[in-house]
Amino acid sequence: MILVSSCLAGLQVRYNGTHCLNKKIHDLAAQNKAITICPELLGGFSTPREPAEIEGGDGEDVLDGKAKVVGKSGRDVTELYIKGAYATLEKAKEINATLVVLKENSPSCGSTTIYNGEFKGEKIVGNGVTSALLKRNGLKVISEEQFVKELFS
Ligand code: SF4
Repeated sequence: MILVSSCLAGLQVRYNGTHCLNKKIHDLAAQNKAITICPELLGGFSTPREPAEIEGGDGEDVLDGKAKVVGKSGRDVTELYIKGAYATLEKAKEINATLVVLKENSPSCGSTTIYNGEFKGEKIVGNGVTSALLKRNGLKVISEEQFVKELFS
């Protein structure tokens, strides 16, 4: 089974109430070939919510206690991101996920790049908190871009 970011399947769960529909991922979910998940909602957030970025590193650093996740107002939301990451890991184990496709650039779901913590739209190489935790636990995590490239080109 494949686990995918809910927003990629078209669910309006992003911080600003929008989705990031990827037609191929949407179709997989509609055919029950993929299960959708949103780590931030699992962590206790609701939609809409304040945008957040990782300050001082990436998801690996957050898990190691060396960086934090902060909302645009400066609120420390690290614990909620970690909670969402562990809940996603549980779900991945429960469905025996063989592949996890998560939305690139998100502080939770990014698996190659994330925003740099300055809220200026600038990216750095790194994992979001959930991607980092899933990878540490041996799961294959890729972005929607890699997924389409690998499986449909
Ligand atoms: S946490 Fe992941 S699934 Fe949820 S809205 Fe953000 S990118 Fe999409």
